[in-house]
Amino acid sequence: MARKLNFSSGPAALPEAVLKRAQGALLDLDGSGIGILEHSHRGPEFLRVLERTEAAIREVGKIEDDFAVLFVTAGATHHFSLVPRSFLGPEETADYCHTGVWSGKAMDEARRIGNVHVACTGEPGFAAVPSAFAWSAAPRYVHYTSNETIFGTQWQAPPPAPALLVCDASSDLFSRPLVLANHALVYAGAQKNLGPSGISLVIARRDFLETGRADLPPLEQYKTYASERSLYNTPNTFGVYMIGEVVAWIQGEGGLEEMAARNARKAALLYDFLDQSRAFRAHAEPGSRSLMNVTFRGATKAIEETLLSRAEERGLSGLRGHRSVGGMRASIYNAFPEAGVRQLVELLDEIERELP
Ligand code: PMP
Repeated sequence: MARKLNFSSGPAALPEAVLKRAQGALLDLDGSGIGILEHSHRGPEFLRVLERTEAAIREVGKIEDDFAVLFVTAGATHHFSLVPRSFLGPEETADYCHTGVWSGKAMDEARRIGNVHVACTGEPGFAAVPSAFAWSAAPRYVHYTSNETIFGTQWQAPPPAPALLVCDASSDLFSRPLVLANHALVYAGAQKNLGPSGISLVIARRDFLETGRADLPPLEQYKTYASERSLYNTPNTFGVYMIGEVVAWIQGEGGLEEMAARNARKAALLYDFLDQSRAFRAHAEPGSRSLMNVTFRGATKAIEETLLSRAEERGLSGLRGHRSVGGMRASIYNAFPEAGVRQLVELLDEIERELP
């Protein structure tokens, strides 16, 4: 079976070497004679997996012990409500950086709990991350989305906030060196750069977790995950295993600096082509462009349809843009090969040359 080039935004392409190892671990984890899906979460075999996964995450991300590393059995959407529910009082205000669909959803959830102040916005068009800020007087926290998966924009550095930051890093965590300074909590659904869906990775300051509401059910308090090592109830054991394997792969490939260099090279191939093209143009503005999700449009609807159908014929899958914005989107996370990006550029060039 020939594997396609998978440009999907998530769940997304994973390193083939990891998939092959996982195939083996389904039947036999680490020579234990029992598969990863079948091991008790309290047994020594899985505890070793949990331990090595956390250790790899800490090493790759250079995460010190003042931050907890948590595995939460849910996607990023869960954290849109869990963060305000835990940390935002009904009379308090949290500042949100509005960069697109995902920050919009995060704000909708926070508004159910307390006050939301939009401190900066990429509206209209969400083609750039904001550069003008108007913070509220004393925000409880400042929330931003480090990479906007749908519009294809990415903060080059965290916003210059007057309070601790909470970051939705679902679509770029571990695609570049991790910046934790001034951050209270970083969360990411795993299904882009880290592993399967249905599990999220949270990196949070331990002292911040202690400031969360203590009257919520235990599974809705982040500090439960910290004190119970993510084992208060049965975790997504396979998800933890996969994150561990993916992060070990990152480590083996040279770590986050190497990922960042590769991702910059891959994205530049596309943006450089788009910037000189008559047939296609990039959506995001230079300085705000995502290295993970390259969004672009055709000069006409017909050009877009030609590209999408020709791409499918050639095994380039998942290029149609999100239903809310249209156009095309090439998601090129860590595991997406540079050769695959070159194939896409060749196809774009071929269509360009057919223009009258
Ligand atoms: N935030 C961002 C930036 C995302 O890209 C996504 C999913 N594409 C989500 C949140 C929602 O994640 P989930 O579906 O895992 O809840």
